[in-house]
Order: sequence, then C-alpha cells, then structure tokens
Amino acid sequence: MVAAGAPTMSVDAKAHRLADRIEVVAWTGGAGAVYAVPSLTTDDFHVVTDLTRLGIGQGLRCDCLAGTHNQACAHRTAVVLRRQREAEQIERRERQR
Ligand SMILES: [Zn+2]
Repeated sequence: MVAAGAPTMSVDAKAHRLADRIEVVAWTGGAGAVYAVPSLTTDDFHVVTDLTRLGIGQGLRCDCLAGTHNQACAHRTAVVLRRQREAEQIERRERQR
C-alpha cells in the first residue's frame, strides 16, 4: 500500500511548472550554459549545467540527487522545455518577417 498524501506529480508535470522560473546564470557563445532551477518543495535552487556547451562532457547535468545518479529529474526536463519554448518563439518571430 502506498501511503495516502498529496498526489505525486510526474516529472513532466513538475517541469512544466518550473520552466518559467528558470534563471540563466551563465552563458557561452550567447547560449545558456548554466541554469538555476527552483525546487518545487523547498526554497533551494538546483543547478543544471550544459556539459556539451561548456565542453566538459555530454548533455545536461543536474546537481540534485536524481541528476547526480543520471536519472531523469524535473529540473533537467524543465531546461529542455524552456529551450523548446525559446526555439518556438524565435521561429514564430522569423515567420512574421
Ligand atoms: Zn534535478
């Protein structure tokens, strides 16, 4: 039996709530390389680093417990969502020209 409590949100649902609250804290070549992603449960932030853009590895890495074990986490997913939204906005702007 699973203990009753607040319904657990999926990683995707959490990521959607976080995507608007992400702060870019470092850029490389005009693109975001390090992001501060707020935690939904505490006042803390998690740091998502783009290892590829920094040239120190592959993909995005989050410093939360799941992220350091290379598991999907809402923070990393939120950064991916945020980038998709930005790409869509640029596309829309270019179509209007
Ligand atoms: Zn994380």
